[in-house]
Amino acid sequence: MIIEARELSKIYGSGESRVVALDKADLKIGQGDFLSITGPSGSGKSTLLHLLSGLDRPTSGLLSYGGRDIYSFHDKELSAFRRRRIGFIFQQFNLLPVLTARENIIMPLLLDKKQPDEAYLRKLTELLGIQKRLNHLPHELSGGQQQRVAIARALAAQPDIIFADEPTGNLDSKSGGEVMELLCNIRRELDKTLVVITHDIRIAKMADRQFVIVDGILSETGSGVEV
Ligand code: ADP
Ligand code: ADP
Repeated sequence: MIIEARELSKIYGSGESRVVALDKADLKIGQGDFLSITGPSGSGKSTLLHLLSGLDRPTSGLLSYGGRDIYSFHDKELSAFRRRRIGFIFQQFNLLPVLTARENIIMPLLLDKKQPDEAYLRKLTELLGIQKRLNHLPHELSGGQQQRVAIARALAAQPDIIFADEPTGNLDSKSGGEVMELLCNIRRELDKTLVVITHDIRIAKMADRQFVIVDGILSETGSGVEV
């Protein structure tokens, strides 16, 4: 599914407190693309991620998924679209502490009244190396394991695209590197589109297409192949 953003802008406040958080961003993402977006704090990364994933709406501009203008959806339609087609990974693992790893992973499916596809879940948890941890509670897992559970949860509903916001931000550099390797492998294996926001230049360079955002202005800086 091709995702296309045209002249996406987000302006907060007005008068003295007016901030152009995102300034006419154009972006075309192909099926299976792996993008990274870096930039200083306050440059507009979260704003862009929220707009691209339909968590928020722009001040102006268009966003289409497979030719469908998703900002024309009502809030309910938009959240159903997100639930089914988009997976999210955050810096905070956001696992529910009273549920086991498996229960956390299948929670999005249950909320959508869907039966888990056991063969797919097995493949997913094996790729992530957490098949022996499924009955553990989050506090019984290391940070890296918790993030791997969160990755499985993001993929449980078989979305087309994954948005990851500082996925290694809460991990030491070794387990952060391992989590990113797994995320890259699983993306390749399952042919998912992946958009990663990161401060970590090493992680940004793993992507096939690298973008930088400065003062709300997005530009493509290169591809992993050249570096
Ligand atoms: P980043 O994720 O790169 O740190 P953000 O997208 O969070 O940047 O923020 C971009 C700019 O927009 C910053 O100047 C920030 O202060 C401003 N901003 C973000 N969210 C809001 C908001 N809800 N209200 C007002 N200003 C905001
Ligand atoms: P930041 O990138 O600004 O440091 P986070 O990535 O933690 O902050 O969260 C930014 C926003 O993303 C939140 O305000 C919320 O709207 C949304 N968000 C965070 N976690 C989730 C979640 N598990 N599901 C849906 N939306 C979330």
